[in-house]
Amino acid sequence: MIAFDLQCSKGHSFEGWFKDLESFTEQQSKGMITCPICKDKQITRVLSPVSIKSRQGEDKPRQEDKIDYQKLAQGIMEYIHDHFEDVGTDFTKEALKIHYGVADKRNIRGTATAGEEDVLKEEGIKFFKFPFTKKKDGDD
Ligand SMILES: [Zn+2]
Repeated sequence: MIAFDLQCSKGHSFEGWFKDLESFTEQQSKGMITCPICKDKQITRVLSPVSIKSRQGEDKPRQEDKIDYQKLAQGIMEYIHDHFEDVGTDFTKEALKIHYGVADKRNIRGTATAGEEDVLKEEGIKFFKFPFTKKKDGDD
């Protein structure tokens, strides 16, 4: 199917759907196409700006639709690095301290063993795991 912008002799414009260009030409020559507004049968095809544009091949792939997930993950890691205090293997201990108000409420990051994760879950402490890649140059 193909859509054409059509216009009658009185200047009414409307859209018509046809099987192909040949089908349109045939129906046009037989006077089978009528204006939906005034029933005029003198119909001409109007080239729409869209069809002109695609003929010139100006359509470029839309870059903004692509999401760079690697960059996104990098951004999240940098945010956590800057905004979360690294408590290392004391993560569970610190999380419990914050949970019971012994330590200041703050964002922390660190590592926890599977057993420690169970403790956190039992205490109802919210945490999330993120696959960090350790930097080689031993930052922190
Ligand atoms: Zn008309």
